[in-house]
Amino acid sequence: MSNDLPRRNVLRAAAAVGVGGVAAATLAGTAEAATGKAKPAWPGGKLTITKDSFGKTSAGDAVDRYSFGQKGRLWVRMLTYGATIQSIEVPDRWGRVADVHLGFNTIEEYQALSPYFGATIGRFANRIAKGQFTLDGKQYQIPVNNGVNALHGGPIGFDKKIWSTEVINDHDSVGVKFSYVSADGEMGFPGRLPIDVTYTVNRRGELRIHYIATTDKPTIVNFTNHAYFNLAGEANGEIYDHVVVLNADKYTPIDATSIPLGPLPAVAGTPFDFRGPHTFGERIQKADQQILNALGYDHNWVLNRSAGSPPSLAARVLEPKSGRLLECLTTEPGVQVYTSNFLTGSFAGKSGNTYRQGAAFTLETQHYPDSPNEPSYPTTVLRPGQTFDSTTLFRFSTR
Ligand code: BGC
Repeated sequence: MSNDLPRRNVLRAAAAVGVGGVAAATLAGTAEAATGKAKPAWPGGKLTITKDSFGKTSAGDAVDRYSFGQKGRLWVRMLTYGATIQSIEVPDRWGRVADVHLGFNTIEEYQALSPYFGATIGRFANRIAKGQFTLDGKQYQIPVNNGVNALHGGPIGFDKKIWSTEVINDHDSVGVKFSYVSADGEMGFPGRLPIDVTYTVNRRGELRIHYIATTDKPTIVNFTNHAYFNLAGEANGEIYDHVVVLNADKYTPIDATSIPLGPLPAVAGTPFDFRGPHTFGERIQKADQQILNALGYDHNWVLNRSAGSPPSLAARVLEPKSGRLLECLTTEPGVQVYTSNFLTGSFAGKSGNTYRQGAAFTLETQHYPDSPNEPSYPTTVLRPGQTFDSTTLFRFSTR
């Protein structure tokens, strides 16, 4: 917990993640904290990309892996299975590189065990109550796979598909455009839906995710990436010391099956108020009904932003000991923050250590859960002639 940390780290942490700036900078009392500028710790290396084989799925489909970015600054590995992030390597404030993403070494483990580690999620991220929705007067049923609800697009979502690829390599960024065509009626969703999701790393330490999708019939869409971060390093303890700021005045409280109740109450006065810096752990043990419903944080925050504007700050998360800072910017209206409440230590990850509750956090930028059944939420309907276009950035630096 934060009170075990050296005082200097806590002060630096508060300053680095504070959105208010002034109070936090005064706290830290350093010019660096006051300017909020990252130390230019790394010389700009080459942007490169390589490809290797990641074996075959149980159905016999070949899976490839792309490794790309700037070694020593931001190096990402992704699989064509699920357009999945396998690892993210970034330095700490002394330049020591660690993998800050949970995952596996084999395709067999991804197929048998993965709770969406790093996967691209669709056609509908998060939950749809009872898997049911009505669109233009017609009822649809998505197969349920999470108690009574449909989660992350139903039992065989985009995370379990093999995506086709095109390498992107220009002077400023390197990465992969992943493409998939979801058939009309797949998992019960109407409309043939071609989707491109482009993951690129640039020289500013940013992983950019750009989603483009169209449809030939009215349908609903909600996409995200399900990255599991631990900024201290994968399988290197729990994330409860991480200091967090979320740019959200409101959130979506949920029922016992994690479906939003409808209204969007203020976070003020609740354990969901991350408008100023708080650690994940500070209030996660409170006997608050919302915390109890989700066994921790597993909620959607309503981001303070205006629809249609460029990507804006959703979250800042700092790991005080390493100084690693992750900022998340998005064009999406919400972010689901999940503290790995359902990881039980029943399997091991890449390093051979088990993943338990609190092993990672997610920042799933997306529309609010169950939007198709809540008319007051921003719409998730996509119609022929429209293009779904959404961008999320994960920016890594140190403090
Ligand atoms: C959900 C969690 C779920 C996790 C892994 C998150 O997006 O909100 O409830 O356990 O995904 O499936």
